[in-house]
Amino acid sequence: MERRVLKDWTANRIFEKSLRLSQKELVFYDGPPFPTGAPHFGTIFVSILKDTLARFFTMDGFSVPRRWGWDCHGLPIENAVEKKLGIKDKTEIEKTLGVAEFNNACRRLVSDCNAAWEEYIRKIGRWVDYKNAYRTLDPKYMESVLWVFKQCYDKGLIYKDYRVTPYCYHCETCLSISDIRESDSTRPRQDPEIVVTFKALDDIGDKPTYYLAWTTTPWTLISNLVLAVGENYHYAAFEHEDKIFIMARDLLPRWKELSGSTPKIIREFEGRALVGKKYVPIFPYYRDLAKEGYFRILAADFVTLEDGVGIVHCAPAFGEDDYWLCKRNGLGVRNPVDAKGCFTPEVKEYAGRNVHDCNKDIIHWLKENHFLLVHKTIEHNYPHCWRCRTPLIYRAMDAWYFAVEKIKGRLLKHNEEINWVPEHVQRGRFGKWLEGARDWNISRSRYWGTPIPVWECSNPNCGEKLVLGSAAEINKYTKNSLSDLHKEFLDEVTIPCPKCSQTMRRVPEVLDCWFESGSMPFGQCHYPFENKDWFEKHFPADFIVEYPGQIRGWFYYLHVLATALLDRAAFKNCLVHGTLLSEEGHKISKSKKNFTDPMELIDKYGADAMRLYLLNSPAVVMEDMNFKDSGVHDQIKQVLLPLWNSYSFFATYANIDGYTGQADHLPESTHPLDKWILAVLYETEKKVEKAFRTFYLNQSVSPIVEFIDELTNWYIRQSRERFWGNGLTSEKKCAYDTLYYALISVLKMLAPSAPFVADYLYKLLTGEESVHLAKWPYIPEQYRNDELIAETAVARNIVSLGLALRQKAGRKVRQPLPALKIVIPSGVERETVNHQMAMIKNELNVKAVEFIADPAAIATLRVVPNPRVIGPKFGKEVQKIIAAAKSGKVREAGDKVIVNDGNQEWKLERADVEISYIGKGGDALCENGILALLDTAVSAELKEEGIANELNRAVQVMRKEAGYAVSDRIKMEIEGPLSEAWKKHIADLALAEQINISEQEADVTKSFDIENRPFRIAIRKISS
Ligand SMILES: [Zn+2]
Ligand SMILES: [Zn+2]
Repeated sequence: MERRVLKDWTANRIFEKSLRLSQKELVFYDGPPFPTGAPHFGTIFVSILKDTLARFFTMDGFSVPRRWGWDCHGLPIENAVEKKLGIKDKTEIEKTLGVAEFNNACRRLVSDCNAAWEEYIRKIGRWVDYKNAYRTLDPKYMESVLWVFKQCYDKGLIYKDYRVTPYCYHCETCLSISDIRESDSTRPRQDPEIVVTFKALDDIGDKPTYYLAWTTTPWTLISNLVLAVGENYHYAAFEHEDKIFIMARDLLPRWKELSGSTPKIIREFEGRALVGKKYVPIFPYYRDLAKEGYFRILAADFVTLEDGVGIVHCAPAFGEDDYWLCKRNGLGVRNPVDAKGCFTPEVKEYAGRNVHDCNKDIIHWLKENHFLLVHKTIEHNYPHCWRCRTPLIYRAMDAWYFAVEKIKGRLLKHNEEINWVPEHVQRGRFGKWLEGARDWNISRSRYWGTPIPVWECSNPNCGEKLVLGSAAEINKYTKNSLSDLHKEFLDEVTIPCPKCSQTMRRVPEVLDCWFESGSMPFGQCHYPFENKDWFEKHFPADFIVEYPGQIRGWFYYLHVLATALLDRAAFKNCLVHGTLLSEEGHKISKSKKNFTDPMELIDKYGADAMRLYLLNSPAVVMEDMNFKDSGVHDQIKQVLLPLWNSYSFFATYANIDGYTGQADHLPESTHPLDKWILAVLYETEKKVEKAFRTFYLNQSVSPIVEFIDELTNWYIRQSRERFWGNGLTSEKKCAYDTLYYALISVLKMLAPSAPFVADYLYKLLTGEESVHLAKWPYIPEQYRNDELIAETAVARNIVSLGLALRQKAGRKVRQPLPALKIVIPSGVERETVNHQMAMIKNELNVKAVEFIADPAAIATLRVVPNPRVIGPKFGKEVQKIIAAAKSGKVREAGDKVIVNDGNQEWKLERADVEISYIGKGGDALCENGILALLDTAVSAELKEEGIANELNRAVQVMRKEAGYAVSDRIKMEIEGPLSEAWKKHIADLALAEQINISEQEADVTKSFDIENRPFRIAIRKISS
């Protein structure tokens, strides 16, 4: 079915047509995925959400263009190419292969990968414009990025600085703070955990005194330049093996834990007393700096008492906090580590070796030279490169920064204008992230990205800089205009310095690919070089949808660049969806194989089932969801099959009666069932529409599921006989009109979520081209009927109690029973039940429903108080209350339950007790205040009727087996002990005339044994 629908969509260009339905446009931005990533569960989920919303808004009267995008640049692509070409490090790219060749390889890779996506996305039914996808590698897109850069630069928002940043020594580039907050970038790692001693220059008393410091990066001790303490913390000096050690007093228990010895405190002081004290560096390499004010203790607020010893060793080249502390105190940086993460010749002993690899030898040296006090191993979460998985280091280097902190106030203000779903993201994760926002490192020492368009004078004394923000500006300095703006092209462009006439060259870095995806509103339409009008109508986006990772990613960078350039938010509504976990609640992982390939599930159960399951889950609004394959299957049983069955029911009878519905015809029926289902339809539409409009998609499916249940399990069940009679009477037409209207309305409501089945059935019902070109169904207010809905709810409640009682008593529904006795709660009128009486009797197959005023007449109240709840309220009396309740000294009084043991009376809340009823002369059940007891005494007369019902049922089955059409008239013989009156009744219902039929003449003959009576039935079609 789905394959056929897909074919129709393509052949009839339904998506394209849906875009042309309206002049009013709703703007949607698609967050660009990396083409190298394979589509996975998350991408399928987000695609379903985007598609569902867009389909709704299309039906709601908007044109919703959906343009695909590709994030073609950046480390993920470069890493994939490195792997493919077997490249180990950057020298190979620069010296052996050449940047141009490397970038060509990236270009090829990116264009190879796209096809897999299209098939995935098509299969789940997502409509999106692939052909016009924007790609961040297109020269036009890149030109817009250059323009964005220049705008920001001119506004003073971009600067170059030497500071500490997260750094990957495999990729040989710095990363941004967001990169290390990527969901999969923090992973457990084992590191040494050591406490070392720094010899103080001032001893306490006559014993040598040492400052203790704790670290998990022993290799940074080589470049230690200062120590830091908290001014207000308390420090203690204690004696240990004839030496004095100083550390934070509150962490002494930890010292005990680490060293196994109890410290003997000899002096205490505040941290401020230590500030300015000098010490001897452990390693010799920078010893000379002592004269310049290094190797002393500084006060810092980043020192905590959470771990370590309360004194922090600082290597300003390798710690962000360390760096700023030194900078504020007028101290510089010493960095003996090169771009590959190896020590430089400055550190003779370890030169050329990777810093992490040196830890072991450094610890050994510390031990040999008596600097090491404690050596353990710690497993902690450590940032890794999100692409190549190398453990990161922090390293001071030159980089380009975006001054986010400068515009923080505006960022926060414009956040107020965004409608976040769920709401808490606004003040929560996004708002908090904005409040803590830091300047953004936008440069990468890499190749495959939009180059930073800054040219610097090669004369170190000149300092002239030129920023070029368009291809035209760049082409002023080239012989032939450039066809491409990648690094290999722009690096060739040199400019004579206007100040000193030496040569200006481009800085080597390229932009962080987040800068590019954040420029998407401009880049996708080559703004401002083209499409100025179009841009103005397509900024900001009306809605965007992505996963929570984008709170610090794409959402954030869109917001930063839109605020910087246009001083407004980039999007009005933002839906943040949650995470799909494995059935057991673990992260879905390919290596653990703890999930089924979603495509396999779609092939098995269909895309509609997958969509309904996901849409009806809390994961739509940022919660987690444990994904169960059976959940997809359930959608078929619970939604799609019942829907299909109600369609079949309609189609079968409409076919017989030659009924054709008109899609725009509003049914006018006075039949209570019709009025009821229309009232339910009205209520359902309100709920579904609200869910879509507010972007709380998770509430869009369940009202429809409930409606389908009401339609099949109540409306159609109750209405069956109305469709049976001959000819199209006006009463029958009302039933048809109503069912038809209900069906096409519910299909329209379902169309955004389950686009295949909705379209398939809608086309069968209406003959129209597609449900996706139809308008959203607005159910007129005239159908609203809350009273009728409440009334039917009571009736259904009574029926479900009655059926449960039948089951308990082992009485089949086909056996008529004399009566159901009910007690209704004070809030419900008998009149209300009477309105539905015929239906209740019919459904329960009882001859009468009797109202009973006093519940005690049919059942004994049983009250079991909950001791844990009443305990605090009644104290010592609890035992008396429980005993009295147990012996039945209880009665109900309004919303209270009274317990009276003859001496004393207690009023209990209903919620504090468990209430049940023991029926008198049968089982009793109570639900929602309705108490019911079924009279199961079967008289001889009722027994006859029951048998007739069984036979009637058997005949229906036989008719089906014989392949008769519902309207076929037949001949029938019923042989067996039953009155002629009942036999005639059965024949009438079966459209049969009674006649003797021999075995040979019969189409079907069957024998039955019912209540120990033998029967034989034969049927034969009357040939026309
Ligand atoms: Zn890396
Ligand atoms: Zn110059």
